Amino acid sequence: MSATTTAVAATTAVASSSSSCVRPPLPVLGRDVTVPLVTGGEVAYAALDYAASAPALQRVWDDVAAYAPYYGSVHRGAGYLSQLSTDLFENARATVAGFLGCRADDQVVFTRSTTDSLNLLAAALPAGCRVFVFETEHHAALLPWRDADVTCLDAPRTPDEAVATLERALAARDPHGPALVCVTGASNVTGELWPVRELAAAAHAHGARIVLDAAQLAPHHPVSVRDLDVDWVAFSGHKLYAPFGSGVLAGRCDWLRAAEPYLAGGGASRTVRRSADGGLDVTWHEGAARHEAGSPNVIGAHAVASACKALAEEGFDNLIARERHLIRTVRAGLADLPEVRFLSLFGDDAPRVGVLSFVVEGWNSSHFAAALSAEYGIGVRDGLFCAHPLVRTLLGGEPGAGGECGAPEAAPGGQALNAIRVSFGAGTPDEHVERFVRAVRELVRDGARWRYRTRDGRCVPAV
Ligand code: PLP
Repeated sequence: MSATTTAVAATTAVASSSSSCVRPPLPVLGRDVTVPLVTGGEVAYAALDYAASAPALQRVWDDVAAYAPYYGSVHRGAGYLSQLSTDLFENARATVAGFLGCRADDQVVFTRSTTDSLNLLAAALPAGCRVFVFETEHHAALLPWRDADVTCLDAPRTPDEAVATLERALAARDPHGPALVCVTGASNVTGELWPVRELAAAAHAHGARIVLDAAQLAPHHPVSVRDLDVDWVAFSGHKLYAPFGSGVLAGRCDWLRAAEPYLAGGGASRTVRRSADGGLDVTWHEGAARHEAGSPNVIGAHAVASACKALAEEGFDNLIARERHLIRTVRAGLADLPEVRFLSLFGDDAPRVGVLSFVVEGWNSSHFAAALSAEYGIGVRDGLFCAHPLVRTLLGGEPGAGGECGAPEAAPGGQALNAIRVSFGAGTPDEHVERFVRAVRELVRDGARWRYRTRDGRCVPAV
């Protein structure tokens, strides 16, 4: 038996010894899709980039298909299908509020994505608001606060240090003005869980509010606005198995009600009249509609609600157990390879969702990811994951766009310039993760079987 076979067999044994009570994956679209290999033949595509976009749940697709013939305008039609579509849209709002454990007076605004949700909140900040973010955030959470006074906090090395760092920063601010903390629930780079409840308590103790970026948390763990005591939560449908263009911002309505509409237009306006001076007098809605100008994306909202119901019915305990089993399969399967280094802030054993980033000694990450795709039919992501400061900290140097593929890549100090990320979730079968482990082991041991070249900064098969 080869070292690879032995290790994969051992991995499978470790994983299956702890997997007897793990339920099968949820049905998702694309599970029968095959892709060509450069080395010949076809293989079932292993989608291991859930952190970027997860496949649609079959249930979501079925719900969307069942509604599609009844599609109609929302909030603007007298016809039966418009009434039905309006009800569906508003019911979706109620379902999302329930899924997120919202308080009675919270508002659920449908947006396009997490990025859109956080930009909406940024546009609604009260004057003089200070914003506190860790450098570890995704750019969607780091960058929207352009008009505010932003304090960027150092990457903590333990969850306790995160809380202490935030407390120190908040204690040093002028306590009278408004302040907002923006924090992720689970890192899109390391998958590690952040101490959200403790950070919320620290924020509130210092008179600040907190918004939770749940883009990576909500698909994997239960998120309760009430239990976590956060003021807002944002997530994206396409990471929650509902890729139909909707996202969510849910939480306190006072800042949102006081703010100018995010987009000006129909739906957000209650009345519009010519004013005496020849201009326009506009009154705006006060509820969620204030920030939902234009025709609402009813299919997107319906899909998000369908995904929320499907995950809640499956039960997060089951989803978490399955994901832990898959994480163990990866960790145990690669544990004896010194060439593979996982990136983490809080330590390799810290609780996490199914998102793992790593570098492989002597490999350009883009080259490695290209070989996983072209030779094994496995889709992962390589690069900096829209979290440049965090990846810079974790790699211990200046990340780069990548050099020529094929050549082992390193910055002058010897560190890798970017990383590889594997991520999975509710629809991932064991075989995909086992194939990934086998592929990493073979590539490390034997190298790529194909030649690759650099095109537009990325590695691609040479032919
Ligand atoms: N926050 C985190 C933690 C993410 O991982 C992402 C996307 O990867 C985002 C925010 C932005 O999500 P979207 O691109 O759906 O707006």
